[in-house]
Amino acid sequence: MAETDGTPDHHPGRYWRRLDDGRVLCELCPRLCKLKTGQRGLCFVRMATDTGIELTTYGRSSGFCVDPIEKKPLNHFLPGSGVLSFGTAGCNLACRFCQNWDISKSRQMDRLADTASPEAIARAAVSLGCRSVAFTYNDPVIFLEYAVDVAQACHAAGISTVAVTAAEILPEPRREFFSNMDAANVDLKAFTEDFYGRLCGGSLQPVLDTLEYVAAETDVWVELTTLLIPGENDSDDELDRMTRWVVERLGPDVPMHFTAFHPDFKMLRTPATPPSTLTRARRIATANGVRFAYTGNVHDEGGGSTYCAHCGELLIGRDWYLLTAWNLDAGARCPSCGSTCPGRFEPRPGSWGPRRLPVNMSEFL
Ligand code: SF4
Repeated sequence: MAETDGTPDHHPGRYWRRLDDGRVLCELCPRLCKLKTGQRGLCFVRMATDTGIELTTYGRSSGFCVDPIEKKPLNHFLPGSGVLSFGTAGCNLACRFCQNWDISKSRQMDRLADTASPEAIARAAVSLGCRSVAFTYNDPVIFLEYAVDVAQACHAAGISTVAVTAAEILPEPRREFFSNMDAANVDLKAFTEDFYGRLCGGSLQPVLDTLEYVAAETDVWVELTTLLIPGENDSDDELDRMTRWVVERLGPDVPMHFTAFHPDFKMLRTPATPPSTLTRARRIATANGVRFAYTGNVHDEGGGSTYCAHCGELLIGRDWYLLTAWNLDAGARCPSCGSTCPGRFEPRPGSWGPRRLPVNMSEFL
């Protein structure tokens, strides 16, 4: 195992091996970067040294906020609760439509304004009344060592953990990563290799492999998000194939969120997604057997609410991030037919509401 280089935020990285030519092969994600000493991978935060790979952003963050859990988005995991959310810098994808590109493509470590130990993050979550901590804003697989340490500190303090990820991670590290998570929202960005290759610089198959692994071999509660981009991933055919695959391979109880694209980063000429596209995607998913299909980041109470999969009763009403109705009993059962709603529920909903609260971590160090 590598030693640190003495810089406080550098930390020994796992999942690498030395090649015969002296370079280091990073085996964390499917990019498999081959790096000479001093070189960084595409994610920018993992760097080769004489002793292996280092994570260069350990303990540093681009900022902390308490968000509603519905914003991750997770609709079946501790609804109504606040989640302490943070990210670091960098990403192992290069999505042309990235909505967080100032963080994910940052090459400037001075964006990482906040310093926080895993224990300080857990303390902050408890003190702020959060039920969970989310690794979000940029993809946590690239800062696996920090995310795992934070997750373990959180679990020791009774706080759950949430990964918001594109799931581009190889089999060995994904075992460690997901064994430390209680819930995940996974971006299923499209259902073609062409989309992943052309617009993200990644590939679809590793994402599907990870999703099947998480659904079949872990207890992680998973929901999926697809950002629908006009003309790129919103055809009836693609949505039909994607949602059939989800039902067949992951099961009908995995919720799907269809969200709207807004022109951003390198796709400023593509128009915003009309709400009718989200409604169409939800209709296709429902017709193919997805029991909990949602429209996201729009005011659409019908498309954002949870209905009983057996009798159609309204279980949880939502208007964007605001809970407008709660009809589950203390055992998460439908009041009308008694069916249990899948997910992780407490007897009562949280009371965080739709607000977003920036957090100054220096108060918790
Ligand atoms: S995690 Fe970073 S360095 Fe490692 S293979 Fe992926 S992009 Fe390359």
